[in-house]
Formats: sequence, structure tokens, C-alpha cells
Amino acid sequence: MSETIEEYCEAIYNLTADGEGPVKSVHLADRMGVAAATVFATIQRMQKSGLVMVDPHSHHIKLTETGEGIALKLARRHSLLERFLLDHLGLRWDEVHAEACEMEHVLSTGVEEALNRYLGYPATCPHGNVIPGNGHVCPGDSRPLDQVEPGHRVKIVRVSEEGEHQAGLLRYLFQQGLVPGVHLEVKEKWTFDETITLVNNEQNEISLGRKTAHALWVSEETSEPAPEK
Ligand SMILES: [Zn+2]
Ligand SMILES: [Zn+2]
Repeated sequence: MSETIEEYCEAIYNLTADGEGPVKSVHLADRMGVAAATVFATIQRMQKSGLVMVDPHSHHIKLTETGEGIALKLARRHSLLERFLLDHLGLRWDEVHAEACEMEHVLSTGVEEALNRYLGYPATCPHGNVIPGNGHVCPGDSRPLDQVEPGHRVKIVRVSEEGEHQAGLLRYLFQQGLVPGVHLEVKEKWTFDETITLVNNEQNEISLGRKTAHALWVSEETSEPAPEK
């Protein structure tokens, strides 16, 4: 199978996982950076090979079981490679995604399994996305940061799958220290220009545009931290 087809399976899977509604070819054209006609031709080929189903009326694209199997395999290899590149080779948090995207296609099943064992069957990639097959699920109460109201405290859970594909966004988040595990308070939401003001644990204010906030999935901290004794 060609790398391109594998990347399409991965893209459809990620777009579905981010819960932005049904996947259409415009989304894929956008994501893959190619013309709509190219997407159309590729999707037709994938349909013939039994990797996707296209609804004849709505034109929504869905992976078949075979297509999803390929996407899951790639997602697993991708995330394991990211962990290895960051934790063991010392590449930066915002660099590992692009590198892993190249390497994921050449890994064999044997190497994938050995790598998983070597890394101790990690739960998530460095950007917080759950590694399929390692027995973990994403916390069900997490949602994009732009949907949280002012006054709430949150913890960063993950960068959306689509967010991971934007090198500039990852670089920006890394520079601002906005990585999984970090606690923030939503201070203000400005409707006129759709920015959101956050306060981190060091009491620094950070302003994010709506698009950036939308790529950060957070879970709300329900209770106040217990007072120190
Ligand atoms: Zn990829
Ligand atoms: Zn990642």
C-alpha cells in the first residue's frame, strides 16, 4: 500500500476522532494540501480497495473496518515513534510529530512491538493523544479549551489530532509552555476578537486566539485543591 493511501486513512481517522462532524473531501483537501480533484481520485481508488465508504447523498467519507485497521496501526506506530524520539533521542516536543509521520510507514510489526515493549507500553503520545491498543482511553470529560467559561480551572489533556499537524501551532504551544499536564485558569473570553485570556500556575497571563484554544483539549478541575496543613 502506498504511503499516500496510508496518510489518507490516518487523516480520515484523525478528523473523525476530533469530533468535528462528518468528514468530507474538502476537509481532506485542506488537510493534505492538495486539490479537490486529487482527493476525489484518491478516495475513488480507496473505495474500490474497500478502505472507505462514501455516502452517495451526503458525500460523507467513512473508513471501513479495513481502513480503520490501517489508521490504528499507523496511529500506534506514530505515537510510539514520537515517544522514542522525545524521551530517548532528546528531540523537541514540537519536532517529533513531523519526524514520526515520515518514519511510521517503514516500521515493521516486529519493530513496532519491540519498541512498544522497550517504551513500557506508554498510555499517550507526548501531545496527550491515546496510543491505540495499549489499554487506555481519553478522559471522557475533556473538551476544547474555547468551550470553557471564565472562572474555571482546567488541566491540558491533549493537543487535537489535527492540531498536531500544524508545526507552527506546536512550536507556539511549546514556547508558551502549553503542554499536557499543565494547569490553567480561564480568566476572560473576549467575544469581539475571539481571544481567551488564561493564567498559568506562575500567575502569568497568556492570550490565545480561538483557533489555538480550539486545538487544546482540557478537562475541568472540579474541586479546589485541598488546603495545605
Ligand atoms: Zn502520518
Ligand atoms: Zn503526538
